[in-house]
Amino acid sequence: MRGLTLVICMMVVLAFIFVVGCSKQQADPDDIFPILKATDQANVMKCLANQHTLRSAITMYRIAHNGANPSSLYDLVPRYIRAVPECPSGGAYDYDETTGAVSCPSGHNQ
Ligand SMILES: [Zn+2]
Repeated sequence: MRGLTLVICMMVVLAFIFVVGCSKQQADPDDIFPILKATDQANVMKCLANQHTLRSAITMYRIAHNGANPSSLYDLVPRYIRAVPECPSGGAYDYDETTGAVSCPSGHNQ
């Protein structure tokens, strides 16, 4: 009797895990964990602020160097920025020396 009860309990637990597992695959993770969405939005805001900082620093560099773009973002350190920021979602910013354009590797672009 005791062994049978244990088996039934195990089956209920396994069935529960199965149902939860299935529903997680179908639902948007943001709906299950709203905090993830909030964190992502905060990362986007921080990322756009980083890009704004970089573009402002590049503009100041150009003014001081007769319109020439820095050859790398590290040329901005330490005079125009204290350190080269990275996207809060991970990854270094893409920089095009020819155009002076900055873009996010995670696609946080306006
Ligand atoms: Zn980003």
